[in-house]
Formats: sequence, C-alpha cells, structure tokens
Amino acid sequence: MADGKSFIHEVFDEELKEGGRCYGKTVHTRFPPEPNGYLHIGHAKALEIDFGMAELYGGLCNLRMDDTNPTKEDVEYVEAIKEDIHWLGHDWDDRFFYASEYFDQMYEFAVELIKKGLAYVCELTAEEMSANRGDTKTPAVSPFRDRPIEESLDLFERMRNGEFEDGKMTLRAKIDLASGNFNMRDPVIYRINRIPHHRTGDKWCIYPMYDFAHPIEDALEGITHSMCSLEFEAHRPLYDWVVNNVSVPCKPRQIEFARLGITHTVLSKRKLRNLVENNLVSGWDDPRMPTLCGLRRRGFTPESIRAFHERNGISKVNSVVDYAFLEYCLREDLNKNAKRAMAVVDPVKLILDNYPEDQSEVFVTENNPEKPEDGTREMSFSRELWIEREDFMEVPEKKYFRLFPGNEVRLKSAYVIKCVGCDKDENGNVITVHATFDEASRGGNTADGRKIKSTIHWVDAKTAVDAEVRLYDRLFTVESPDLADCNYLDFLNPDSLKVITGAKLEASLANTQPADRFQFLRLGYFCADNKDSKPGHLVFNKAVSLKDSYKPGT
Ligand code: ATP
Ligand code: MG
Repeated sequence: MADGKSFIHEVFDEELKEGGRCYGKTVHTRFPPEPNGYLHIGHAKALEIDFGMAELYGGLCNLRMDDTNPTKEDVEYVEAIKEDIHWLGHDWDDRFFYASEYFDQMYEFAVELIKKGLAYVCELTAEEMSANRGDTKTPAVSPFRDRPIEESLDLFERMRNGEFEDGKMTLRAKIDLASGNFNMRDPVIYRINRIPHHRTGDKWCIYPMYDFAHPIEDALEGITHSMCSLEFEAHRPLYDWVVNNVSVPCKPRQIEFARLGITHTVLSKRKLRNLVENNLVSGWDDPRMPTLCGLRRRGFTPESIRAFHERNGISKVNSVVDYAFLEYCLREDLNKNAKRAMAVVDPVKLILDNYPEDQSEVFVTENNPEKPEDGTREMSFSRELWIEREDFMEVPEKKYFRLFPGNEVRLKSAYVIKCVGCDKDENGNVITVHATFDEASRGGNTADGRKIKSTIHWVDAKTAVDAEVRLYDRLFTVESPDLADCNYLDFLNPDSLKVITGAKLEASLANTQPADRFQFLRLGYFCADNKDSKPGHLVFNKAVSLKDSYKPGT
C-alpha cells in the first residue's frame, strides 16, 4: 500500500463503479475477532484493513465477536479487544455484535437447507468421516447422504433437543462428494457439543461451524466486503455456496489477504496464552509481547503501528517482516514527537573540583529540536553530577574519546570539562570521577574554538530523581521460533529483560505521567510504564534504541 493502492482497493474501485456490484451502496466491512485472547500485531493488520477501507470509502465497519465456538471465551478479552481498537483510533459506533446473537437464525437457515434437499444429518463419527473423505481420485462417501428430507428434519430437531450425545451426528451440507476442493465435500455445518456458551448458556447443545456461520453473520449485517486472511481462500466457494443457498438479505464478497508474520516472535494466540499462563512473561501486556497492549506498554504509538502496516502493504503472498522494521517505524515517530531529556542509567558521580560547592545554575534547552513548538525546559547544574559509568575510562582504549585523565569532553548544553582523575574503592572500582570545568565554555562551546570530540550527557546530582529502567531484548533468540518441528519455548531469550534500579533522571521528569514518552539523550526512546510508574516511583521501559542498521525499502 506504499503507493496508497492495493489489490483490495482495486476490487473496491471496480465494484463501486457504475454497473458494479456495489454501485451506489455504502461500503460495509467488519472486524471479527474470536474473543479467546488479546489482539496482536497481526490482528492489527486485519483491523487496519477492515476499519481502514471503510473509513477510506466513507463506509461503516462493524465490530463482531466471533463467538460461535463455545470454548474459552471471556469478557476480559472482549473489553481488552475494544480498548485496543479504540487505541488504534477506530470506532464501530453502535455496531457491536456477537455472532452468537444469530444462533436462532442460523438454525432456521440450516432447516431451510434441509428442506431444499441441500443438507442432511450424517451419523458417521469424526473418525469414520475422515476415513471416508476419499482422495483426489476417489470421492468421499456418506451412507446417509440420501436419507429422506423428513428424516433429516426430525433428527436435526432432536439433535437440537439434546437427544444424542456429542459427536454422534452432524448436519452436513449436500454439495459435492467428488469436489477437488475438500471443503466442498459435504462439509459439516452443525455439530453437537455440550459446552455451555458464555453468552447463550446451555440454550444450545449444537453449534454451527465457522464456514457456515461466518457468511450468514456477514450477510445478516449487510456486509459488502468480508476481508480475511489467506488460509480462507479455499473456503471461499463454500462461503459463496452458503450465501447463495440460504435466504439471506445480501451476498457479501470474501476477499483474502496475506497474514502478517514477524521475526523473533510468535503470533498464535494459543502460544501467546501459553507464555502468559506459564509465567514466562508478566502478562498479555508484558512489553516484550507482540500484543497491542504489550506494544502500547512498551511505548509504541498508534501512529507507528499504523505506519508499519501501511508501509508493509496488503498482498496475497504471506511474508515475514523483520521485527526491526516495526522498531524503525516507532523510532521515526518518536524522533519527531518525543520530548528529549537526560537520564543516566548506570550512574557514577562526577565532581567538578573547581566549581563552587554552594553554587547552582540553570540551562534552558529545547524540549524537542524537531518541534520548537514543544517549548523549552530548565536543567539545573552544580558541582556534583551523575554521568554514565561507561563514559569514563581510567586507561582509555584505542579510539576512546570520552572522559579519561587529561582529556576534555563537552557536557551536553553545559560546559567543556577536563578530567583530572578518579577515586576508587578498596576493590579498585571507580566511585568518583574528578574534572575541572572551563568557565568560558558556558553553553558547551570553547571560547578559543578548540575542538572537543565527545559530548556526554549528565544529570545534576542535587536535583536528580531516581527511577527504575527496564531494558528489553527480543523475546526469542531465533528469527522463526514458530517452526513446525520445534518447540518455540526452547528459543525463549533468557536475557530479554534487564531491570536497572537507581537510574538518575533530570528533575524535569519528576512528574512524568504513565505512558509519557521521551528520548533519553544517547540512550534511546523510553516510555513511563503504564502500570507501575507514578510520580515518586518512576519506571521507564526502553521502547526502542536510537539507531539501528535497519534500512527500509529494500
Ligand atoms: P490466532 O491464530 O492467533 O488464534 P485467529 O486468526 O484465530 O488468530 P481471530 O481472532 O479469528 O484470530 O482473528 C481475527 C481476524 O484477524 C481474522 O480475520 C484473522 O484472519 C485476522 N488475523 C489473525 N492473525 C493475523 C495475522 N497474523 N495477520 C493478518 N491477519 C490476521
Ligand atoms: Mg480465527
């Protein structure tokens, strides 16, 4: 979609033209998540297409909980799904539905099919059915195919009334036992399953299969375009068969697009749930998770996620996108929009020996050089400062241009200083670095124009606030932990979370609110944790590093 158009846009354009299937109609799409887990970045692709196309074409998009399968549904998931969609900037207005609302109608449509001689009750067990599926050269077989309509009507009603045990009978569409498309070989459209449903309770002990239910849901809601991922392509003939053979009010069109895969993570809800339930992550919103709530907590913006999907585009070919590209999109957004601040994550004390002990001064600096309208802030400065431990080396390595005895560096926006030595504890660890400041370099430039190779960040020790900082790495150590013949848990990265306490932040951050985002100079982009951070106890998540070798568009 980089140039704004995809094959789906072409379909829409074509059908909305004079003479087209949807000429003069309002585009109507739907996003149909199954409420059995939290939404992840792959779902975001689907919902960006569903809501995005409706918005683009001045249409409507419904939100529908696809709850025809009575297991595992949970209100927690329903609320979380709504929150995530709103966060991404989309809304369904009053068009929020549950597929289970249509169970009565689905039942009637099934009866209609039986009456038309287009469905029958089959008594093959699941095992017998698969043994009788046939192969490309042999048709499937069911001895019940030609049973009288009256008999099927009676048995189907008794299935509904709970007269038969689970698995004893199914209702099958009567289509074509010899079809080259196995989905058309008299697919099961209803099965007996005595599991209470989270909305309909024990009203039903038979439930419609997805391939029968979904086209009916779409048609009852007046959906014009039903977009779904590629694995449903071979189910499209069945989708069309259903809308053409039951008396639904309209005939939606199914269009398939490629699923999104991302490196270094898994996108199956079952696998993600496993991580949560086995406490391998802190929850669905663990900032290492590819869920929308996890990404949000990590510091991702809705804009960065939308940009990611827009740039990936929509195609018919499944692809796996580098996780680094997702980070690239966030970095681009935050580079423009995040305020700058100074923070020291691994602090060592710096003492300016020639700076008066009781003196303090204030530097005024822009919040975001990319956005002058974001104003300025004050940073206090005094004799004792915090700097990063790695910005000092008593004995410098080759090409080390930061602080070492005799060398000058610039303290960002403040002064040029010259290192004069350090104090160490009995183990030889540096506890204080000493330097002198050049009073004539206020603001950071030398009066005589001498070159200073390095600039380091700092925080005034007098006013600094403490924080916990959480640094993240990939959740899995390999690109494709999802490979079929491996256990993805074997590839969990044991070093994916590093918690640092005792980081020092500039005083202007004392009132940071949960979810506020910053660029910490030289360190990366950080986001105040939306659960654990509050003024007085600040917790920052590293959202993304400042730079990466990743180059898009290749
Ligand atoms: P999972 O395999 O994680 O359980 P699912 O497909 O069963 O995913 P649903 O809740 O049914 O999850 O998905 C809702 C919509 O999101 C569907 O239209 C589905 O095709 C789409 N979707 C799910 N995963 C992806 C993905 N990785 N890329 C694009 N679309 C996806
Ligand atoms: Mg699904």
